Amino acid sequence: MRPEIRKDYIQDKYVIIAPKRAQRPHDIEKPVTQFKTEIPAMCAFCPQNINKVKPVYKKGRDHGWLIYVVKNIFPAVSLDNPESYGTQEVIIETPDHTKHMDDLPERHIASLLHTYAERTRALEKILNIDYILIFKNNGGAAGASLKHSHSQIFATRFVPPQLMDKSRKVFEYKLFNGRCVYCDTIDKESKGPRFVYKDQHVIAFTPYASMHNYEIWIMPLRHVDNITKLTHVEHHSFARILKRILKKITYLNLPYNYYFHQLVNDTDQHLYLKIVPRGSVWAGVEIGSGLVINAIAPEEAAKYYRGEL
Ligand SMILES: [Zn+2]
Ligand SMILES: [Zn+2]
Repeated sequence: MRPEIRKDYIQDKYVIIAPKRAQRPHDIEKPVTQFKTEIPAMCAFCPQNINKVKPVYKKGRDHGWLIYVVKNIFPAVSLDNPESYGTQEVIIETPDHTKHMDDLPERHIASLLHTYAERTRALEKILNIDYILIFKNNGGAAGASLKHSHSQIFATRFVPPQLMDKSRKVFEYKLFNGRCVYCDTIDKESKGPRFVYKDQHVIAFTPYASMHNYEIWIMPLRHVDNITKLTHVEHHSFARILKRILKKITYLNLPYNYYFHQLVNDTDQHLYLKIVPRGSVWAGVEIGSGLVINAIAPEEAAKYYRGEL
């Protein structure tokens, strides 16, 4: 395939898809198992330590908790700081220090999604919280300072300008086309070469203008704007495909981030989970021009996720 410039479905974000033969999935270095054995036996998130910190939410009993949520002790935003207003929480996904998220059973991952929903419900009630980001950093290069499997919620008054811009563009698209741009995208990607998985509730595909190697999105088929609106069965569908995708990313030995964006005051958004492996290092072109070069075409990435490579 010859390199081509592609534009995001709705935002003014551009990428050059420029595949290199050398970076096909089977040429990427094989998984390193020492990644799992290097980790120390105990850390601040292990039950022995974290049980001393009062949880804001937990699943399971006192000594046998499954998921444990605490306030971030080094927050960038806080409710008593009008200059940087908001709140941050850390979700410890398992008491077991050695387990990665893709090792957890499907029902455990579904419980984690339910925890995200419960915390979103609690945080959106706080006065002046307009933006709630749920995210996970896995692996050193993607920014995790602790290996014990965890994710975070960042809730603030500040809505990033690119999201306000996206909201406006989604609104305009609906005005002209009478439909949600992402509902249309789901229809389109269900059939095309970037399709990965679909059941009665969710779809997974690699986006047309993927900014990152092996970027993949999971979306509910229903037009719902945030995670609190998902049903129990939708959590399970999400968990099933999320686990499979994370296993595939672990096999590539790539660190990854994933995130849900949620705008409290825009209830017409279509929820998505973006999973972004961090295989490529952004260099001169990206830093200088903002134009990203992605050497893995999303069509190739989709083949990999579908198990065809
Ligand atoms: Zn630990
Ligand atoms: Zn929609």
